[in-house]
Amino acid sequence: MSDRHQNLAIIGHVDHGKSTLVGRLLYETGSVPEHVIEQHKEEAEEKGKGGFEFAYVMDNLAEERERGVTIDIAHQEFSTDAYDFTIVDCPGHRDFVKNMITGASQADNAVLVVAADDGVAPQTREHVFLARTLGIGELIVGVNKMDLVDYNESDYEQVVSEVEDLLKQVRFGTEDASFIPISAFEGDNIAERSDNTDWYDGDILLEALNDLPEPEPPTDAPLRLPIQDVYTIDGIGTVPVGRVETGILNVGDNVSFQPSDVGGEVKTVEMHHEEVPKAEPGDNVGFNVRGIGKDDIRRGDVCGPADDPPTVAETFQAQIVVMQHPSVITAGYTPVFHAHTAQVACTIESIDQKIDPSSGEVAEENPDFIQNGDAAVVTIRPQKPLSIEPSGEIPELGSFAIRDMGQTIAAGKVLDVNER
Ligand code: GDP
Repeated sequence: MSDRHQNLAIIGHVDHGKSTLVGRLLYETGSVPEHVIEQHKEEAEEKGKGGFEFAYVMDNLAEERERGVTIDIAHQEFSTDAYDFTIVDCPGHRDFVKNMITGASQADNAVLVVAADDGVAPQTREHVFLARTLGIGELIVGVNKMDLVDYNESDYEQVVSEVEDLLKQVRFGTEDASFIPISAFEGDNIAERSDNTDWYDGDILLEALNDLPEPEPPTDAPLRLPIQDVYTIDGIGTVPVGRVETGILNVGDNVSFQPSDVGGEVKTVEMHHEEVPKAEPGDNVGFNVRGIGKDDIRRGDVCGPADDPPTVAETFQAQIVVMQHPSVITAGYTPVFHAHTAQVACTIESIDQKIDPSSGEVAEENPDFIQNGDAAVVTIRPQKPLSIEPSGEIPELGSFAIRDMGQTIAAGKVLDVNER
């Protein structure tokens, strides 16, 4: 157990071994839920096999998955010497991008699984591109299924160089990536150094996970607290509630709510029904501000310091990735944008550049339309005032999902804001 925490994404092409690797990590770190272990022990004994093998864990995971029950590699947890890890949604998961950009499951770092017998495949490219777009810090590349290539060093090197080329194309710093030959199925180089790869002397997977840089809590950034709801409470008055995304909220601070454009002094801050002097990133709070009435502010407002108030956009430029749109997107399209707690209809005013998703290079200037799989730089005009920040300055408030027809059709991050 550790008091340091990491959100980890497991990415990679379908069938390259992501679920198996998660099962292996849970197993090796003793994190398989107790009821699952008990069940395996019983089944193993019934079948006269005794002992408790990794294979049983995987059988059970697969079985539960078939039955559509609980096991899903997202949201599993395991601990190493250095960190408690939470595995966040993985690309391909229905709401992955939406969750990732709305901060619900922002991954700090990622493990990229690439099968040694297959190498870089289409989803390897897509996921690496998304990981870079959405701000993954470091990448641990597990070259998996080494058992299928007889633990051959040259096969490993071949995959390493393919992945290095891909990282260079999307400009993901290769100094932020490490490579490990593994077999999730056999357990090579996961928790123990494997005799099968005596040509390899780098870190094994658990060592590499321990060595990941610690995510820095965004306490140095200015306060940004998106408002989820506004209540009226007897004896206190108006109480906006929300989660502190960045910065610190102190009693006595002078704050401003945008785009409602009202402000005042913070009188009280409450967390878990107790008054506290301040709140930090990740804290869910209710607070009270002198002079603010229930109708002055609303869900979607962002609270920040009066002298560094949240930015309100007249227009903004963003990089988006189109995930699932039934036809094509052209200038003039006005879907609903979900950014932090705000939902605002916004018009895609112009499509400025089409970007090659596998390389990040400009593929076309001012294209007439974009469609599924395309990445593009677009200019967006909110139809009602919207507080949003450049992701380069405050990433927590700099991304959004675009929804239409009941599903997330695209996701993006803000490059630049033209203030109102
Ligand atoms: P995912 O789609 O990326 O989650 O891939 P899975 O974890 O479901 O694995 C796909 C298939 O590859 C399954 O049949 C696994 O048993 C198999 N597999 C995964 N890892 C290994 C490995 O290290 N060696 C071998 N031989 N097979 C593996």
